[in-house]
Amino acid sequence: METMKLIRNADVYAPEHVGKRDILLAGGKICLMAPRIDPDALPGWEVLDAEGKLLLPGFVDCHVHVMGGGGEGGFANRTPEGFLSDFTRFGVTTVVGCIGTDGIGRDMKSLIAKVKGLREDGISAYAYTGSYQVPVRTLTGNLIEDIMMLEEVIGVGEIAISDHRSSQPTFEEFARICADIRVGGILSNKAGIVNVHLGDSPRCLDLIERVIDETEIPVTQFLPTHINRNEMLFQKGIAYAKRGGTVDLTGNEDIDYWETICDEVRVCKAIRRLLDAGVSDDLFTISSDGQGSMPVFSPDGKFLGVGMGRSSCLLKEVRECVQRENIPLEVAIKAITANPAKVLHLNTKGHIGEGYDADLCLLTPELTIDTVIARGEYMVKNGEIVKRGQFENAMLK
Ligand code: ZN
Repeated sequence: METMKLIRNADVYAPEHVGKRDILLAGGKICLMAPRIDPDALPGWEVLDAEGKLLLPGFVDCHVHVMGGGGEGGFANRTPEGFLSDFTRFGVTTVVGCIGTDGIGRDMKSLIAKVKGLREDGISAYAYTGSYQVPVRTLTGNLIEDIMMLEEVIGVGEIAISDHRSSQPTFEEFARICADIRVGGILSNKAGIVNVHLGDSPRCLDLIERVIDETEIPVTQFLPTHINRNEMLFQKGIAYAKRGGTVDLTGNEDIDYWETICDEVRVCKAIRRLLDAGVSDDLFTISSDGQGSMPVFSPDGKFLGVGMGRSSCLLKEVRECVQRENIPLEVAIKAITANPAKVLHLNTKGHIGEGYDADLCLLTPELTIDTVIARGEYMVKNGEIVKRGQFENAMLK
């Protein structure tokens, strides 16, 4: 049973910096935030003293292969599914799951089942219907029906374009997908977002821009991801964001390697450049591509094996924004809290305030995880994982 909690003396980034506040949590929600709440008036409430610590909204990771992905290079390369603590120990309390390159060996039924499982475990989880391929594979057989009738579905993706692994959709095919998910989103009061995987090709964002220019579908319908995968694409991404599009940067644990070998734009540098170009600080997100496979090559180009995306990169990238690029914390954390919540219409996520979900991260002054609360329940407490998924303990033995 969830206990009612009083968090005291936290330095709150909501994500805007509001300073020291006391916060009451009950029923999975933030019920009250005030400069001071008297604990003596609340017998039976658990009190957590957060003196000296920073309180942030729980992180929203908006592009995660929750049930595993990969498979490129053979069936043995399929990546494993993520367990609860693969997300929570890095501060992530909301994930949006997607399929990936393999839309045959992985399907929507398994993805929705995994999303339901993560919800039962205690975090918030959603899904994009469809996968890389066009025509998209859905659960009900129809995109509009999927988003209207499946509560977990909030958009379509990741649809691959400008990539050798893409289905090479025509303009008409791509525009139809965008139109269908938009209408389905309107009818179900959801974002109906089109999450687009961008590959390395010089065609970059061309298909998305044609839809915006030649149809009535607005730029706000799209969340293109991997926008920092190379310099050319990133430059086009800046121009795209300047016209009001949100861009999703893929975080990376081992960025020193990727920056030198693969021309990837380091997330902290990318955010600095977006801000310097005059892009609004509402228009970028960072996601992990968690549980997705990443081929690793040696400096001389030899294939070394397959690594895997991890949600750990979100906080690491925010820390780099603050420590390497002097970006204020309240700006940097928008990329993993308020901004993804806004673009995905997750209206009770990404903020600390009365009525929002009780999804919270308590950080040390060095910006490391101290405590993570999801829907009012402890996931991590004082640096220790206190809740694990059903079979995680068995796996640890
Ligand atoms: Zn992708």
